[in-house]
Amino acid sequence: MMSNDKVLVQVRNLSVNYHTRLGPVSAVNDVSFDIYRGEILGLVGESGCGKSTLGKALMRMIMPPAKISSGAIIFDGEDVMKFDQKRLRDFRGRRISMIFQDPMTSLNPVQRVDEHLIEAIQVHEPKTVLENAQERVRTLIGRLGIQERRLRDYPHQLSGGMRQRVMIGLGLILNADLIIADEATTSLDVIVEAKLVDQLREIREEFGLAILVITHNIALVAEIADRIAVMYAGQIVELGDITNIFDNPLHPYTIGLLSSVPSIKLDDHEELYKMSGEPPNLTHPPSGCRFHPRCPEAMPLCSRFCPNMEEVVPGRWVHCWLYQDHPQKERSTIKVKA
Ligand code: SF4
Repeated sequence: MMSNDKVLVQVRNLSVNYHTRLGPVSAVNDVSFDIYRGEILGLVGESGCGKSTLGKALMRMIMPPAKISSGAIIFDGEDVMKFDQKRLRDFRGRRISMIFQDPMTSLNPVQRVDEHLIEAIQVHEPKTVLENAQERVRTLIGRLGIQERRLRDYPHQLSGGMRQRVMIGLGLILNADLIIADEATTSLDVIVEAKLVDQLREIREEFGLAILVITHNIALVAEIADRIAVMYAGQIVELGDITNIFDNPLHPYTIGLLSSVPSIKLDDHEELYKMSGEPPNLTHPPSGCRFHPRCPEAMPLCSRFCPNMEEVVPGRWVHCWLYQDHPQKERSTIKVKA
C-alpha cells in the first residue's frame, strides 16, 4: 500500500447520477481510487463511460441534472464534499485545475493571454501587487515555451497547442497540486499532440504536480502515464501500474480493449479483435457485473452479483469475479493470484 503522505486524492465509493425524464442515469457508480503526488494517472475508457463526469466530480463541478449521490473525495486530507462555495472557488485554481478538449470554451475571447493569467493571480491572491504578478506570468510563460510577445495575443490568435499551454499555465501559475487534462490533446494534430504530451511530462518533472489524463486514446496513456485506471460503464474495472497492465491485463474488458488497438507488429492477415455487443444504457445498467453481457468469460454468478474492486497483487486492483471468491462461484480456483 502507498503511504498516506504520498496520496494526494482519495476517492471513495463515489457515485454520480444524471436525473433525466427516463429516470436516473448511473454515470459513475461506487468508484474508489487514489491519485498519488507527482504521478501521471491515465483514466481511459470508451465515450460515455463516465470518465469526464468523474473528472468534473473531483472538482465538484457536477451541475444539475447531475448530482453526486454518495461517496467521499479527500484532497490532501480535506473533505471536498464539505467545502462551501467560497472554499470551492479557492480550491479550483489554487489546488486543482482542469484543461478541456477545446480551450476556447474556457478562455475569454476578449481577454489577452497576460490578462487571463494576471486575473487568476489577483482573484486567488488579492494582495499580490501587479508588477509581481506580471513578473510571475513572464517567468512561467517562458518555462512553457511561449514567447513573451504572445502574452498580448487574444486566444483566437494562438494555435490550438498554444491555447492548451495557456490553459496549463492557468493551473501552474497558482502552483496547483493536480491538473486534470480531459481529452486535452484530442483536437490537436499528431505532431502538436506529441509536443504537448512531452510538455506534460516535463511539467510533472519540473513542478512535481500530479496529472490526471482523461482520454479514450489508450496509446496516449501508454506514452505518458505511470498508472492507468480503466473505466467501463461508470465503474473502474482495473487499476495499476501501466507496464503491468499492458504486459498482463487481467480484467476481460481491459484484455479486449488492448487487443483491439492496432499494432505496427500486426501481421497483414491478422484481424483486430472486435469486442462483441455495445456499451450498456446506463439508465438501466446490466445487473451484477456491468460487463457481463459482453464478457467472453462470464459465469452464472456474474449477472447476479456485482464483484468488488479487489487488490489482487500489491498495487493492482481488479473488479471481476475471476479474481475473487464467492460461495456461488462454480470455478473453485481464483484465476490469477500471484
Ligand atoms: Fe466477466 Fe464476470 Fe469478470 Fe464481469 S465479473 S468481467 S462478467 S468474468
